[in-house]
Amino acid sequence: MKGIGEKRAELFSKLGVNSVGELLNFYPRAYEDWTSVEKIENLLEGGTYCIKAVLGSPVSDALIGGGRILSKATVYDDTGKLRLVWFNNRYISRMLVYGGEYFFFGKITVDNYGAQMLSPTFAPVAKGAMIHPVYRTTAGLVSKSISAAVEQSLKLLPETVNDPIPEQIRKKYGLCGLRQALCDIHFPKTREALECARKRLVTEELLVLNLGMRSLKRHSRGVSGVKIKRDYSKEFESLLPFELTGAQRRAVADCVSDITKSGAPMNRLIQGDVGSGKTAVAASICYTAAKNGFQAAFMAPTEILARQHFDNLSALLENTSLRVELLTGSLKESEKKRVREGLSSGEVDLVIGTHALITDKTEFKSLGVAVTDEQHRFGVAQRAKLLGKGENPHLMVMSATPIPRTLGLIIFGDLDISVIDELPPSRKPVKTVLRGAADRKKIYSFIKREIAQGRQAFIVCPLIEEGELDVASAEEYAAELMLNDFSDIPVAVVHGKTKADEKERIMADFAANKYSLLVSTTVIEVGVDVPNASVMMIENAERFGLSQLHQLRGRVGRGKFQSYCVLVSDNRNPVTEERLRVMCSTNDGFRIADEDLKMRGPGDFFGERQHGLPQMSIADFADTKSLELSQKIADEIIFIYKDLRNDELRLLNAEVERLFARGGQNTLN
Ligand code: ADP
Ligand code: MG
Repeated sequence: MKGIGEKRAELFSKLGVNSVGELLNFYPRAYEDWTSVEKIENLLEGGTYCIKAVLGSPVSDALIGGGRILSKATVYDDTGKLRLVWFNNRYISRMLVYGGEYFFFGKITVDNYGAQMLSPTFAPVAKGAMIHPVYRTTAGLVSKSISAAVEQSLKLLPETVNDPIPEQIRKKYGLCGLRQALCDIHFPKTREALECARKRLVTEELLVLNLGMRSLKRHSRGVSGVKIKRDYSKEFESLLPFELTGAQRRAVADCVSDITKSGAPMNRLIQGDVGSGKTAVAASICYTAAKNGFQAAFMAPTEILARQHFDNLSALLENTSLRVELLTGSLKESEKKRVREGLSSGEVDLVIGTHALITDKTEFKSLGVAVTDEQHRFGVAQRAKLLGKGENPHLMVMSATPIPRTLGLIIFGDLDISVIDELPPSRKPVKTVLRGAADRKKIYSFIKREIAQGRQAFIVCPLIEEGELDVASAEEYAAELMLNDFSDIPVAVVHGKTKADEKERIMADFAANKYSLLVSTTVIEVGVDVPNASVMMIENAERFGLSQLHQLRGRVGRGKFQSYCVLVSDNRNPVTEERLRVMCSTNDGFRIADEDLKMRGPGDFFGERQHGLPQMSIADFADTKSLELSQKIADEIIFIYKDLRNDELRLLNAEVERLFARGGQNTLN
């Protein structure tokens, strides 16, 4: 292309643009709307505006400290005058002509000399009245040069561009053609044209992702070597000290239908809010597998969780013929050896453990079902390793991270999903309130009253980040409590720097009621069950995402006692307060996840880029409406064309392949 030599090309390459095609798909990160012009007399401090004004003086350059140049000019329209200021751009004086009329676009600031527009961009009136694209840049390549290159490349587009989305689908859903979309996403004439282009491109990107995840699901694993003939879930239920909830029964039924069907193995995600009773569902399926002569493995992310599950399940299965064992890294070597021998000989029916389960030393005689608890803590690779211990065994993953349904359909596109959307009936919803720091003493007295009645409590203080010394660290916070309000009460502390084994010990002691109060940072997030705990107090609640607050709150309300969650915040920002009020008004993890997604985007659910999806170039996972639309269109395409290999879908299929070739897939292999 004209004006792009080797050096330029290298700069474009830094932005991931290596061809004309990639340049066309390098969408603006923002737009400057120069179509609505403001009069100078109406400008407000802090606002960003486009004005149409005449240069009333030549640009004057002055040298200021550090050898930098300060350029100033005065412009006027029929309502007033305004000063313009640029720093360190020695070309300004050559580009602007005294007496010429221009559009200027920039932010208004006010100093001792009055109002000014800071470093405005500009264009002659003849070229200006449009919506200007703003591109992501790199050192040495400004947005304007990118824009010029894009303009050139759009001219190279043929009159008719082959469109990956079939015409009948486009018509039905009001999606504009690809050529139109590409022109308007870069250089829209109006806001409407921009919206139209954006809708088309976003829908296409999500559609491609959607179709891609579906084909992964269909092709992900072959035939299972595990033949389960009889369903023992009724028998298992009779062992439980409680009745399963309807939602638990439905989840069990889904799994039973998966594992008794011949052909593909089960690939199922059990999604349920904290405390919804996922363990019993998993145990039921393990029981059925074991009764059919296969082994089951249940993998938990921490020693303490593994031990807790082991204690519960071995008590439950005590009077049955099944042999249950625990396998974790901290066991004595001789003990580990004994369990491993039992696994390879087939004498052990159900093993509960940590990562020790997936080391090379662990071998199974006939692994039938693999369960991973708290799914988001295990990578896809670890899941695959566990599955590799058997002949394509059935897989069940459990997650307490409620993600909005629309997003879940895509992220877990390779898994079938059962949702446990009902809590055990004995459970009383946690009462949640928002309080200011001035109420702290009152909250402490409340906690002390609960402790006096035999309950336990958590206090969460936020992690300290570097340079945030104003927030008391967990240690200091706890020391303060132990010296004053809680001097006669056993208090424990865990935080990010507490060593793993020490943390496990403290959590185990807390679960055994050796401490009444646990002060911690967010390290207590994982699902340790302490049914006796009834209060969760969260300091600086505004610093947490809603989903995280919900996870934290899930630590209480697990027993028969009325439980409380006290959010402490002095932040009076209305948006923040609104967010915290959502917590007070509902216990529904999915509603909270939806709110959180709207407010903060999807990163929060999995941490930075942990969702394992390919990078999107224009779509936004927080945009549930587009997610739903793409879902619907994907359904329709499958319905009409049956198979992605249909010739009419050639281009769309090629895009699916390209998207996944870029990496970040979410497969089991
Ligand atoms: P989670 O889904 O968070 O893993 P758990 O499986 O740990 O939840 O269950 C939380 C608690 O609820 C446990 O103490 C469990 O024994 C109890 N529980 C599970 N299902 C029921 C039920 N149907 N009725 C009463 N209690 C139940
Ligand atoms: Mg659990």
